[in-house]
Amino acid sequence: MESSRHSAGWVEVICGPMFSGKTEELIRRLRRAVIGRQRVQVFKPAIDRRYHETRITSHSAQSLDARAVPDVAALEAALDPDTQVVGIDEAQFFGPALVPVVQGLADRGVRVVIAGLDQDYRGQPFEPVPQLLAIAEQITKCLAICSSCGALASRSYRVAGGSERVQVGAADSYEARCRSCYLKAIAGDESPADTATHVA
Ligand code: ADP
Ligand code: MG
Repeated sequence: MESSRHSAGWVEVICGPMFSGKTEELIRRLRRAVIGRQRVQVFKPAIDRRYHETRITSHSAQSLDARAVPDVAALEAALDPDTQVVGIDEAQFFGPALVPVVQGLADRGVRVVIAGLDQDYRGQPFEPVPQLLAIAEQITKCLAICSSCGALASRSYRVAGGSERVQVGAADSYEARCRSCYLKAIAGDESPADTATHVA
Protein backbone atom coordinates (compact mmCIF):
# COMPACT_ATOMS: atom_id res chain seq x y z
CA MET A 1 0.00 0.00 0.00
CA GLU A 2 1.29 3.42 -0.88
CA SER A 3 0.42 6.72 0.66
CA SER A 4 1.34 9.86 -1.23
CA ARG A 5 1.65 12.28 1.66
CA HIS A 6 3.03 11.88 5.13
CA SER A 7 3.08 14.48 7.88
CA ALA A 8 6.12 12.86 9.48
CA GLY A 9 9.21 11.06 8.26
CA TRP A 10 8.81 7.63 6.80
CA VAL A 11 10.91 4.89 5.16
CA GLU A 12 9.66 2.68 2.30
CA VAL A 13 11.77 -0.18 0.94
CA ILE A 14 11.07 -1.86 -2.39
CA CYS A 15 13.14 -5.05 -2.58
CA GLY A 16 13.41 -8.24 -4.63
CA PRO A 17 15.63 -9.81 -7.30
CA MET A 18 16.74 -8.32 -10.60
CA PHE A 19 13.96 -7.73 -13.17
CA SER A 20 11.27 -7.78 -10.47
CA GLY A 21 10.11 -4.20 -11.14
CA LYS A 22 11.78 -2.39 -8.24
CA THR A 23 12.89 0.56 -10.36
CA GLU A 24 9.51 0.74 -12.13
CA GLU A 25 7.78 0.89 -8.74
CA LEU A 26 10.25 3.49 -7.43
CA ILE A 27 9.62 5.64 -10.52
CA ARG A 28 5.84 5.27 -10.13
CA ARG A 29 5.92 6.41 -6.50
CA LEU A 30 8.27 9.32 -7.17
CA ARG A 31 6.19 10.52 -10.17
CA ARG A 32 3.12 10.52 -7.92
CA ALA A 33 5.01 12.52 -5.30
CA VAL A 34 5.85 15.10 -8.00
CA ILE A 35 2.16 15.18 -9.01
CA GLY A 36 1.45 15.85 -5.32
CA ARG A 37 3.76 18.91 -5.58
CA GLN A 38 6.30 17.39 -3.22
CA ARG A 39 9.92 18.44 -3.55
CA VAL A 40 11.67 15.27 -4.69
CA GLN A 41 15.35 14.33 -5.06
CA VAL A 42 16.44 11.04 -6.64
CA PHE A 43 19.83 9.37 -6.21
CA LYS A 44 21.61 6.37 -7.64
CA PRO A 45 25.13 5.02 -7.13
CA ALA A 46 27.63 6.21 -9.72
CA ILE A 47 28.73 2.56 -10.12
CA ASP A 48 25.49 1.76 -11.98
CA ARG A 49 26.17 3.10 -15.48
CA ARG A 50 24.15 0.46 -17.30
CA TYR A 51 21.80 2.87 -19.01
CA HIS A 52 22.24 6.53 -18.23
CA GLU A 53 24.43 8.75 -16.05
CA THR A 54 21.73 11.10 -14.79
CA ARG A 55 18.56 9.02 -14.76
CA ILE A 56 17.32 5.91 -13.05
CA THR A 57 16.16 3.47 -15.72
CA SER A 58 14.13 0.27 -15.52
CA HIS A 59 14.58 -2.80 -17.69
CA SER A 60 11.36 -1.71 -19.40
CA ALA A 61 13.00 1.61 -20.37
CA GLN A 62 11.02 3.84 -18.02
CA SER A 63 13.25 6.54 -16.55
CA LEU A 64 13.41 9.51 -14.22
CA ASP A 65 16.04 12.20 -13.61
CA ALA A 66 18.45 11.22 -10.86
CA ARG A 67 21.77 12.30 -9.48
CA ALA A 68 24.57 9.73 -9.63
CA VAL A 69 26.69 9.90 -6.47
CA PRO A 70 29.87 7.96 -5.72
CA ASP A 71 29.01 7.27 -2.07
CA VAL A 72 26.73 8.10 0.87
CA ALA A 73 28.79 11.19 1.84
CA ALA A 74 28.22 12.65 -1.64
CA LEU A 75 24.50 11.84 -1.38
CA GLU A 76 24.31 13.68 1.97
CA ALA A 77 26.25 16.65 0.58
CA ALA A 78 23.82 16.91 -2.37
CA LEU A 79 20.69 16.89 -0.21
CA ASP A 80 18.60 20.03 -0.35
CA PRO A 81 17.23 20.96 3.11
CA ASP A 82 13.82 21.69 1.52
CA THR A 83 13.46 18.21 0.00
CA GLN A 84 10.38 16.32 1.17
CA VAL A 85 10.85 13.02 -0.66
CA VAL A 86 14.17 11.27 -1.29
CA GLY A 87 14.30 8.35 -3.75
CA ILE A 88 17.29 6.01 -3.78
CA ASP A 89 17.79 3.26 -6.37
CA GLU A 90 20.23 0.31 -6.15
CA ALA A 91 20.63 0.78 -2.38
CA GLN A 92 22.77 -2.39 -2.11
CA PHE A 93 25.68 -0.51 -3.69
CA PHE A 94 25.80 2.20 -1.00
CA GLY A 95 26.97 0.01 1.90
CA PRO A 96 26.16 0.25 5.63
CA ALA A 97 26.68 4.05 5.86
CA LEU A 98 23.34 4.46 4.08
CA VAL A 99 21.35 3.23 7.10
CA PRO A 100 22.01 6.12 9.55
CA VAL A 101 21.55 8.67 6.76
CA VAL A 102 18.13 7.21 5.86
CA GLN A 103 17.20 7.06 9.54
CA GLY A 104 18.28 10.70 10.02
CA LEU A 105 16.27 11.89 7.01
CA ALA A 106 13.11 10.12 8.19
CA ASP A 107 13.67 11.43 11.75
CA ARG A 108 13.58 15.00 10.43
CA GLY A 109 10.37 14.44 8.48
CA VAL A 110 11.53 13.28 5.04
CA ARG A 111 9.77 10.45 3.16
CA VAL A 112 12.53 8.11 1.95
CA VAL A 113 11.72 5.60 -0.81
CA ILE A 114 14.46 3.04 -1.42
CA ALA A 115 14.81 0.28 -4.02
CA GLY A 116 17.43 -2.44 -3.79
CA LEU A 117 18.35 -6.10 -4.11
CA ASP A 118 17.57 -8.04 -0.95
CA GLN A 119 19.79 -11.00 -1.95
CA ASP A 120 23.09 -11.23 -3.80
CA TYR A 121 23.63 -13.69 -6.65
CA ARG A 122 24.48 -16.37 -4.05
CA GLY A 123 21.09 -15.92 -2.37
CA GLN A 124 22.64 -14.24 0.70
CA PRO A 125 21.09 -11.12 2.30
CA PHE A 126 22.64 -8.09 0.57
CA GLU A 127 23.58 -5.43 3.11
CA PRO A 128 22.45 -2.78 3.78
CA VAL A 129 19.01 -3.76 2.40
CA PRO A 130 18.20 -6.15 5.32
CA GLN A 131 19.01 -3.35 7.80
CA LEU A 132 16.86 -0.91 5.81
CA LEU A 133 13.99 -3.41 5.84
CA ALA A 134 14.27 -3.54 9.62
CA ILE A 135 13.90 0.24 10.06
CA ALA A 136 11.28 0.74 7.31
CA GLU A 137 7.65 1.66 7.99
CA GLN A 138 6.61 0.00 4.73
CA ILE A 139 8.11 -2.91 2.77
CA THR A 140 7.27 -4.13 -0.73
CA LYS A 141 8.80 -7.38 -1.94
CA CYS A 142 8.69 -7.66 -5.73
CA LEU A 143 9.09 -10.96 -7.57
CA ALA A 144 10.27 -11.44 -11.15
CA ILE A 145 9.34 -14.23 -13.58
CA CYS A 146 11.66 -17.26 -13.57
CA SER A 147 13.46 -17.36 -16.90
CA SER A 148 13.58 -21.18 -16.72
CA CYS A 149 10.02 -22.20 -15.77
CA GLY A 150 7.86 -19.04 -15.66
CA ALA A 151 7.09 -19.26 -11.93
CA LEU A 152 7.53 -16.31 -9.61
CA ALA A 153 11.23 -15.66 -9.07
CA SER A 154 12.97 -14.43 -5.91
CA ARG A 155 16.60 -14.98 -6.91
CA SER A 156 19.08 -13.36 -9.30
CA TYR A 157 21.18 -16.05 -10.98
CA ARG A 158 24.51 -14.97 -12.45
CA VAL A 159 24.84 -16.56 -15.88
CA ALA A 160 28.21 -15.01 -16.76
CA GLY A 161 31.10 -13.40 -14.95
CA GLY A 162 33.26 -13.99 -11.92
CA SER A 163 32.57 -14.47 -8.24
CA GLU A 164 32.81 -10.85 -7.02
CA ARG A 165 29.72 -9.88 -5.03
CA VAL A 166 29.32 -6.61 -6.93
CA GLN A 167 29.26 -6.99 -10.69
CA VAL A 168 27.01 -4.56 -12.49
CA GLY A 169 25.11 -6.11 -15.37
CA ALA A 170 21.68 -6.85 -16.79
CA ALA A 171 20.29 -9.61 -19.01
CA ASP A 172 23.81 -10.36 -20.30
CA SER A 173 24.96 -11.47 -16.83
CA TYR A 174 21.87 -12.24 -14.73
CA GLU A 175 18.57 -14.11 -14.98
CA ALA A 176 15.63 -14.20 -12.59
CA ARG A 177 15.08 -17.68 -11.15
CA CYS A 178 12.58 -19.24 -8.79
CA ARG A 179 14.03 -21.03 -5.75
CA SER A 180 13.83 -24.46 -7.40
CA CYS A 181 15.40 -23.48 -10.75
CA TYR A 182 18.07 -21.43 -8.93
CA LEU A 183 19.07 -24.46 -6.85
CA LYS A 184 19.15 -26.69 -9.94
CA ALA A 185 21.36 -24.17 -11.76
CA ILE A 186 23.74 -23.86 -8.80
CA ALA A 187 24.04 -27.64 -8.58
CA GLY A 188 24.81 -27.78 -12.31
CA ASP A 189 27.49 -25.09 -11.91
CA GLU A 190 29.47 -27.22 -9.50
CA SER A 191 31.96 -29.26 -11.49
CA PRO A 192 33.10 -32.62 -10.04
CA ALA A 193 36.41 -30.91 -9.11
CA ASP A 194 34.55 -28.22 -7.11
CA THR A 195 32.46 -30.84 -5.35
CA ALA A 196 35.58 -32.80 -4.42
CA THR A 197 37.13 -29.65 -2.95
CA HIS A 198 34.01 -28.96 -0.89
CA VAL A 199 34.00 -32.49 0.48
CA ALA A 200 37.67 -32.27 1.40
P1 ADP B 1 14.42 -4.16 -11.26
O1 ADP B 1 14.67 -2.71 -10.91
O2 ADP B 1 13.79 -4.92 -10.13
O3 ADP B 1 15.65 -4.85 -11.79
P2 ADP B 1 12.94 -3.06 -13.46
O4 ADP B 1 11.91 -2.16 -12.85
O5 ADP B 1 14.18 -2.40 -14.00
O6 ADP B 1 13.34 -4.21 -12.42
O7 ADP B 1 12.33 -3.89 -14.67
C1 ADP B 1 11.13 -4.60 -14.60
C2 ADP B 1 10.73 -4.96 -16.04
O8 ADP B 1 11.70 -5.86 -16.57
C3 ADP B 1 9.43 -5.69 -16.19
O9 ADP B 1 8.31 -4.83 -16.21
C4 ADP B 1 9.62 -6.38 -17.55
O10 ADP B 1 9.27 -5.50 -18.60
C5 ADP B 1 11.12 -6.60 -17.64
N1 ADP B 1 11.57 -7.97 -17.46
C6 ADP B 1 12.61 -8.54 -18.13
N2 ADP B 1 12.84 -9.79 -17.70
C7 ADP B 1 11.95 -10.06 -16.73
C8 ADP B 1 11.69 -11.19 -15.87
N3 ADP B 1 12.42 -12.31 -15.94
N4 ADP B 1 10.69 -11.08 -14.97
C9 ADP B 1 9.95 -9.97 -14.89
N5 ADP B 1 10.14 -8.86 -15.66
C10 ADP B 1 11.12 -8.90 -16.58
MG1 MG C 1 16.41 -1.58 -10.89
